[in-house]
Amino acid sequence: MRVELITTGTELLLGRTLNTHVRFVAESLFPLGLRLQRQMAIPDGDGIRQALEESFGRCDLLIVTGGLGPTSDDVTREITAELFGCELLLHEESAAWIRSYYEARGRGFDAGARRQAMVPRGFEVLPNPQGTAPGLYFPGGTGHSPLFLLPGPPRELYPMFAAEVRPRIEALAGGPGGVECREWVFAGLGESELAERLEPALAGIEGLEVGYCAGSSSVRLRGIGRPELLEKADAAVAETFPYQAASSHGETMEEVVVGLLKQRGEWVSAAESCTGGLIAHRLTNVPGASAVLGMSFVTYANEAKSRLLGVSEAVLRERGAVSPEVAEAMARGCLAASGADWGLGVTGIAGPSGGSAEKPVGTVWIAVAGKGLPTVVRQGFFPVDRETFKMRASEKALDLLRRQMLGFPS
Ligand code: AMP
Ligand code: MG
Repeated sequence: MRVELITTGTELLLGRTLNTHVRFVAESLFPLGLRLQRQMAIPDGDGIRQALEESFGRCDLLIVTGGLGPTSDDVTREITAELFGCELLLHEESAAWIRSYYEARGRGFDAGARRQAMVPRGFEVLPNPQGTAPGLYFPGGTGHSPLFLLPGPPRELYPMFAAEVRPRIEALAGGPGGVECREWVFAGLGESELAERLEPALAGIEGLEVGYCAGSSSVRLRGIGRPELLEKADAAVAETFPYQAASSHGETMEEVVVGLLKQRGEWVSAAESCTGGLIAHRLTNVPGASAVLGMSFVTYANEAKSRLLGVSEAVLRERGAVSPEVAEAMARGCLAASGADWGLGVTGIAGPSGGSAEKPVGTVWIAVAGKGLPTVVRQGFFPVDRETFKMRASEKALDLLRRQMLGFPS
């Protein structure tokens, strides 16, 4: 079944509003065995006419969002009725709902408000308990594919999709496709190396669709196929990359690390310089992080590294703040100061200035100290913009901790 989405709204094309409906609709369709074949974003106004005509010729199901409101730029309903050659009828129940909605807010039920209760003949009304304009559904026929007209505001769209749209699409699609999507997340690997080394094994899994996605901190492999194919892919991933595959269901590195710490009943603390607290931020983004993180340090200045973590002034002077010795002293100092089971130390040069021939911008030293274990110190080199640098450095630090916990090489 070919499905298309038309999102309307001038704000989407001005870059004022991120077009989140594409993601929402695509994600909602997938479990029903459907995928968007194409999506189009168009400005408010008459452009919807041409967009509808084009899409109808191509697809078996069309979903339109936005343009059902009370203002003059909301014309989806009227233009659809024109194209279908059908009249608009007042839907009494919707009118009563909209009137009560407006009156409860001290607003008058004017012509614009009333327009929202007009329904093209032959269309079903999809109630909108979160707002005023109901959604509209044409079940197909008279040369037209099934069509949904849905409200733009996400807080109206999402519940309407769950209650009214999903069941209707399910009935159209004739049951879920039996196809699932799975994501593996890798650390310390480039996209091309990942593809090159996995390709031979994955190519042998007939019917599996794969995709690679390089993000700001990690590379992901996406597999789409029947569950047994995904199991085969999982085995191939585990065999090819036993240490680099950090998660097999799309979990982020921080989710993986918090999960492992929880399992082990252990605590972590970080001493961060160039990452400016990003490691603590990422860990505390995971629900339940309070079971594994009690305190963390942002020691940006040398003085802070000495005072809070006991990093020796002589080492700072002789080796420089960005050095393996300081990273190690930060990690051990953090372990001692926090009483945690694991201490991370991160120090580097985010740039754009501050680099030297010996320590170019992008250099970072990361140390992981564990109670009663030798401290592991590794260098990273991420000559990118500051924000990406921080993401990559924090990812590498979390990955180093993950590998230490699992007894993997690092
Ligand atoms: P509308 O009903 O078209 O006037 O939409 C009302 C509001 O919903 C807009 O001002 C946006 O804030 C939001 N909205 C509409 N379409 C989208 C979209 N595709 N993605 C995200 N937000 C949207
Ligand atoms: Mg609008």
